[in-house]
Amino acid sequence: MSAFTGRSALVTGGARGIGAAIVRALAKDNIDVVIGDLLEPAGTALAESVGPHALFQRLDVTDEADWRRVLDEAEAAYGPLAILVNNAGILDFGDVETESPMAFRHVVDVNLYGAWLGMHYAAPRLRAAGGGVILNISSTAGLMGYAGLGAYVASKWGLRGLTKAAALELGRAGVRVCSVHPGPIHTPMTEVMDESVAAAQPLPRFGEPEEVAAMVRFLITEATFSTGSEFVLDGGATAGQVLNLPAPS
Ligand code: NAP
Repeated sequence: MSAFTGRSALVTGGARGIGAAIVRALAKDNIDVVIGDLLEPAGTALAESVGPHALFQRLDVTDEADWRRVLDEAEAAYGPLAILVNNAGILDFGDVETESPMAFRHVVDVNLYGAWLGMHYAAPRLRAAGGGVILNISSTAGLMGYAGLGAYVASKWGLRGLTKAAALELGRAGVRVCSVHPGPIHTPMTEVMDESVAAAQPLPRFGEPEEVAAMVRFLITEATFSTGSEFVLDGGATAGQVLNLPAPS
């Protein structure tokens, strides 16, 4: 018996990449997980491979009706909501001068507004159930800037700030809210990037989705005194800069 027995979890964007690794990690801990994603075949296949601890529901995180339906389905299948992982996200390449206004809005819509909607509809359920955990998958792009990724950077900084506001509002209801900030991770999202992206990091490699899932699992099941905090896994990318200093005389 754990604190999550008889309760449900929802992982958005859970059909592939980091989300799928989180789904597998939670199910391995006997936590019942709903995979909410646009990708129906991949989501259904993942649910079948995980077994009775997972089911797929089509969820567009920007759609209010979808959120209400999927949360209802999750609670009907597995019990009162205990865990929401706002993981769904998209990336778009474009400079401030060249990105189209529509593309900017779409990124912010999915990455920030979608996560806000999730918290908006999930928080009353978590409160009613006596508490729970919300994890928002931000990025190192929520801690620093990246040229050519303005919309993504704006959305991930926004998500980091929203996490803190929600943590302050929901703590007394027993709901913890934290943000997770991965650096480059091998997933379909980063297929277009080459390994040189990670070359300057102290740990000069991409991370794996399972490494993010391990931190998420820890934050859900072990980090019971953490809320409003940021958890970074980036191979040291945000630690600072190595300077090419003159040799000591
Ligand atoms: P991914 O492989 O592209 O998976 C993202 C999933 O989210 C996809 O299944 C995608 O479906 C789904 N999704 C997109 N829009 C959605 C919507 N409106 N509603 C529901 N689901 C939607 O990406 P990932 O690399 O695993 O990224 C997961 C999260 O980690 C994202 O928030 C990302 O920003 C963050 N992150 C990733 C990295 C990295 O290096 N990979 C680093 C830092 C942070 P579609 O394919 O249909 O769009």
